[in-house]
Amino acid sequence: MINSKQIQRPQMILVVDDQEINRDLLGDILEGKYALLYAENGKEALDLMREHRGELSLVLLDLMMPVMSGMEVLEKVREEEALSKIPVIVLTADKNAELKALQLGAADFITKPFDVREVILARVDRIIELSEGRQLISAAEHDQLTGLYTRNFFIEYANRLYRYHPGMHLDALVLNIEQFHSINALDGREFGDEILRVIGRAIRDFLEETQGIASRYDADRYVIYCRTEGSYRAILDRFQSEVNAFASNANVRLRMGVRPWHGDAEPILLFDQARAACNMVRGDYQNPLMVYDEDMRQQEMLRQRLLNDLQVAVEERQFKVYYQPKYNIQVDPPRLSSAEALVRWCHPDLGMISPKKFIPLFEGNGLISVVDDYVWREAAGQIARWKEKLGYRLPVSVNLSRADVFAPDLVEKLVGLIRDNGLEFRDLKLEVTESAYTDNAHRLLEVVARLRKLGFEIEMDDFGSGYSSLNMLSEMPIDVLKMDMKFVRNIEKSEKDYRLVELILDIAKYLNLEVVAEGVETEGQMTLLKDAGCDLVQGYYFSRPVPPEEFEKLIRKELEMERRSEK
Ligand code: C2E
Ligand code: CA
Ligand code: CA
Repeated sequence: MINSKQIQRPQMILVVDDQEINRDLLGDILEGKYALLYAENGKEALDLMREHRGELSLVLLDLMMPVMSGMEVLEKVREEEALSKIPVIVLTADKNAELKALQLGAADFITKPFDVREVILARVDRIIELSEGRQLISAAEHDQLTGLYTRNFFIEYANRLYRYHPGMHLDALVLNIEQFHSINALDGREFGDEILRVIGRAIRDFLEETQGIASRYDADRYVIYCRTEGSYRAILDRFQSEVNAFASNANVRLRMGVRPWHGDAEPILLFDQARAACNMVRGDYQNPLMVYDEDMRQQEMLRQRLLNDLQVAVEERQFKVYYQPKYNIQVDPPRLSSAEALVRWCHPDLGMISPKKFIPLFEGNGLISVVDDYVWREAAGQIARWKEKLGYRLPVSVNLSRADVFAPDLVEKLVGLIRDNGLEFRDLKLEVTESAYTDNAHRLLEVVARLRKLGFEIEMDDFGSGYSSLNMLSEMPIDVLKMDMKFVRNIEKSEKDYRLVELILDIAKYLNLEVVAEGVETEGQMTLLKDAGCDLVQGYYFSRPVPPEEFEKLIRKELEMERRSEK
């Protein structure tokens, strides 16, 4: 049998070098496998390339040659569409010429003195395979708008630099425009495009002076893989001042994240990390630069670990629900009114983990519903158990994340919990954070209104931490305002803060809403809130969040008081 490989003509390679010994050496290595052509200078090479352009699989090109240098050949090749498709491997002894050659479109290079035979053969084979597989060539190379590389091309290129030129030590930079969508919306798309172009040009100018490649990765995100000297801040300032020079009236701000070159980390990882750093300074106009460091790496690893462990944690019931009481302070002595369910993760290796560490993480990727499901189920069961065991009916609030509210089966799920545990709707209160109301308010209001109609009480959590306006507040289907902790923190010392709390209480009264003050830690704070007319208080002053066994003591105390007051 004959397979198709055997009846194909051998692939053709053009070897260009002014020194006979080099031509012979390469010829010797390649001749058994490939058909070969030879040229002694750039001019001859170009002529042969034009003549054989349909047949040539590869050109091996020396850079230093008389008549016409390899660099000049590369420049010419770039201009001629038909030639630019033929891959070129550059032969050079000059380390500094490497990147320049790559920038001019060389696919790879081989350093002189020549490597061992197998290495050269492997490189040649690989480039031919790659180009025939059309990996690089088929990817559109340049972004229309900025002239920088396209994302796919950039990735391919960066990987190649990393793999075959590990000595190059390139840093990963990610550059982003603050609020680009608003710029587009306010100043028009034309202007937005112009800004993108200006940044593209600034980056290209920058790369003229150093070694590296860049791409507009998506919309308003640029990635630069380059050798840097001097401070990162200087690089960012340089780009920012180019933008300022162009858009002197509009306030266009850039931010940048950097992951410095790092041993054996692949570009894709470096850029993930640079991007994470860049995201961390979103909106921070004082400090628009972040360099990824060991701390961030540790955090990143912890996050990854928590993501990995979530499934098992649910199966093994590692999540524990704690309860923190809310007290009615308008009676003397204050009386237990309800509780908030707060989750903790008792991790077998990492110990007790605060929800502040994992809730935002799971909110970011939708896994939060797994945790919340668990907590709601647990809380609903607990309400029923206390009712049965102690004859006491304690309403418990659970936290709803934004993502929960948008889940299609939310209402069904909550109603199921009430039914299965023999509860009434008012036994389970729902806390929805204020910031959830501000974006995509419409859908949220709809869902919350439905829940409220069923009989669930709705509490607006962290009120005052977001941006809800007063007139929005009057339209929101809620029963309770939970005043953010920051208002309470300083009321003993700051007259202004105290006035603010009074104001919030006035507005709430006007809107017929109950108010819970959170974060109450001292008797002084409690008394001031009482005087200002605040109904309910939650905070360390009364109790930290505690496990259900311990909370039982608070219930027993309450029952005791009830009994006494009945006498
Ligand atoms: P949050 O809903 O505002 O809960 C109140 C937080 O304030 C709790 O923190 C509580 O322990 C803390 N706190 C209570 N009293 C005081 C006080 O007097 N002083 C101070 N400094 N802090 C006090 P925690 O338990 O660490 O929870 C943090 C946040 O995590 C919660 O803030 C909530 O947003 C979220 N979270 C907790 N459990 C869940 C849950 O099951 N589901 C969801 N989606 N989020 C949860
Ligand atoms: Ca809450
Ligand atoms: Ca809160």
